[in-house]
Amino acid sequence: MRLCRYDDDRLGLVKGDQVLDVSAAIEAIPATRWPAPQGDALIAHLDAVLAEVARLEGSAKAVPIADVTLKSPVANPTKVIGAPVNYAKHQAEAEADPNIATGKKILGIAEYGPFLKANSSLVGPGQGVALRFTDRRNDHEGELGVVISKTGVDIPLDAAGDYIAGYALALDMTVRGNEDRSVRKSLDSYSVLGPWLVTKDEVPDPNALDLKLWVDDELRQDSNTSFLIYNVEKLISWCSSFYTLHPGDIIMTGTPEGVGPVKAGNVITLEIESVGRMDVAVRNA
Ligand code: MN
Repeated sequence: MRLCRYDDDRLGLVKGDQVLDVSAAIEAIPATRWPAPQGDALIAHLDAVLAEVARLEGSAKAVPIADVTLKSPVANPTKVIGAPVNYAKHQAEAEADPNIATGKKILGIAEYGPFLKANSSLVGPGQGVALRFTDRRNDHEGELGVVISKTGVDIPLDAAGDYIAGYALALDMTVRGNEDRSVRKSLDSYSVLGPWLVTKDEVPDPNALDLKLWVDDELRQDSNTSFLIYNVEKLISWCSSFYTLHPGDIIMTGTPEGVGPVKAGNVITLEIESVGRMDVAVRNA
C-alpha cells in the first residue's frame, strides 16, 4: 500500500493519480497521555491502521493527488538518521570538489558513523524547501528513505529486514561549509520525505532500485541502490549499534554522485523505482 499524509493531516491511500481519504483509520491508533511513547504512533500501529484502511477503501472519497498538499508520511519520528558518503562515486566527487569538501579531508562511512538531522527539519514534498544561507552552496542529495517499523537496538544483520515498515523518497538538503553535519543538514525544510510511505511488501529488494534526480529538466543524479556501500540491512544493523531505533525513525541511506546546487525557483524531481516520484519546489526562506 501507498499511504500519504496530506492537507490538514489527513490520511490517504494512493491509487494511481488519486488519493482515497481514509482518515477514519487513524482511530485504530490508541489514545495516549503524556508522556507520549517513543516513536511515531501511526507506524507503531501500522498493521491495525492498514486493516482499517483496507476496510474503508471501498467507500472512501477520492481526490486527485495533484490537488492536495503532501506532507511527510511520517509525522513524529524520534530521529532522522543520515548516512554519510555511502556511494563510492559520491565519495570520489566529494574528494575531488573543493566546494563539497570545503577544506576537510573526506573519510569513509565507517570512520564518520551515522549523523542526525533535526526532526524539525522534516517536511513533505508539497511544503517545498526554503533555502537559507543563500550566499553559500545549497545542494540536493537524493536518497532512498527507510522507515523503521518497531523498536530495536543492536539488531543483527540477518534480522534487519524485520525492522522495515516501508520506504519513501528522501532529500537530504545540505548547506556546504565547515559546521557539523547536524547543523548544515538540519535547517527547517532540509529533510524532505515523500510523496508517500510504500509498505515494504511492495519493494522486494531495496538494494536494487534505480534512483534519478532532476533539477528542472536537467538530470543530475542517475544511479541504483545496488551501489550503496552499506546496504539497507547493514545500515539498520549499524545504526542500531549507536541508537535504539523506534517506530517511524527514518534512515536516509546516502546519496549517489551528481550532487549539486539549487536556487529559488528550481523544482527538484526525485524518482526511485517501485517507490515513486515527487516534485519539490525550492524558494528562499
Ligand atoms: Mn546525504
